[in-house]
Amino acid sequence: MEFIHQMEPSIDHKEIDAVSEYLKSNPWLTEFKKTEEFESLICQYSKAKHCIIVNNGTVSLTLALQALNVKAGDEVIVPDLSMIATPNSAVMFGATIKFVDVEKDTLCMDINKAKDAITNKTKALIYVSLNGRSGDLNAVRKLCDDHNIAMLEDSAQSLGSFYNQKHLGTFGHIGSISFSSQKIITTGQGGALITNDDGLAVKLRKLKDFGRVRAGIDIHEEIGYNFKFTDLLAVIGCEQMKKLNDRVKRKKEIYSLYAKELGNIKEIEFVPVDLSRTAPWFVDVYINNPDELQSYLKENKIGSRRVYPPMHSQKAYAEYNHLQFPVTEYYSTRGLWLPSSSNLSDEKIKYICDTIKKFYNH
Ligand SMILES: *Cc1c(COP(=O)(O)O)cnc(C)c1O
Repeated sequence: MEFIHQMEPSIDHKEIDAVSEYLKSNPWLTEFKKTEEFESLICQYSKAKHCIIVNNGTVSLTLALQALNVKAGDEVIVPDLSMIATPNSAVMFGATIKFVDVEKDTLCMDINKAKDAITNKTKALIYVSLNGRSGDLNAVRKLCDDHNIAMLEDSAQSLGSFYNQKHLGTFGHIGSISFSSQKIITTGQGGALITNDDGLAVKLRKLKDFGRVRAGIDIHEEIGYNFKFTDLLAVIGCEQMKKLNDRVKRKKEIYSLYAKELGNIKEIEFVPVDLSRTAPWFVDVYINNPDELQSYLKENKIGSRRVYPPMHSQKAYAEYNHLQFPVTEYYSTRGLWLPSSSNLSDEKIKYICDTIKKFYNH
């Protein structure tokens, strides 16, 4: 039996044929019509008015914060449980991070604690919908509006997930999505910003294209950078988008199957997930000694991955190491992501669950 990866991207002849077709068309390779098509597919799916594709899901956050006028020295509120890209995107141009603990039912930012972290220097709050879960996003938006701070949604893991029938990433001023190899659809590297605000959309397009007033014209009213995409990757993105509905369905099935097989092992804790609105990106379980289970799974040719360490505990954030965020610490030290690729068969999930049952002598 081959090693089962915790996560692997999935492509088939559709992407291969589309790329081959594109390469035969005498292409420019850089972003153009195919990128526009990819953007419009994301608008259709998320119902966002604008989509701006960039080269990854980290600079997308940096760009969004700049478009929202966040400057060096401003404070940005970030959950302590996330991928490191979330705080790093703000640190990149000198903003100060304020970490906030998460709530246990969603593992997303605790809004009451976020309220306490707001000061007169706070310019933005980045809400991370970790694993497609979220709290009450209307309440988060209201908190931001009441304090006149920008709301950026890091929805990197949440393409295909909703709150109140609205796609995640459309509650804040700007939402950000990632297409890295780990995500529900992928172009290898890639990111997208979605917004309903016409002015922000124009600003974002300028910022990602050297600050040009219009594509192809070298007139610059402000400083911008090169965060552009490539049509070669957009060709893959368009094919992946056509598979999104099936993937969302499959992610839910995978989660249900694990929950059914492992649900009555008392040593394993699941965090609630509402599959009618959430397409879990990864299957996450919370246990004592996750390293031991991880080694046992590896011996049985099964990959897994530890849930992110608390941001404040990383060496990169040494000045925050003394702080305490109990909920994040609890779930971080216990969290393990199980194999979750959308092409994972039921049979393999059975094998993985049987192996876990054996580990717990079940
Ligand atoms: C993947 C991810 C990112 C970074 O996206 P890249 O495209 O890899 O740069 C940012 N935030 C979260 C929550 C992520 O999961």
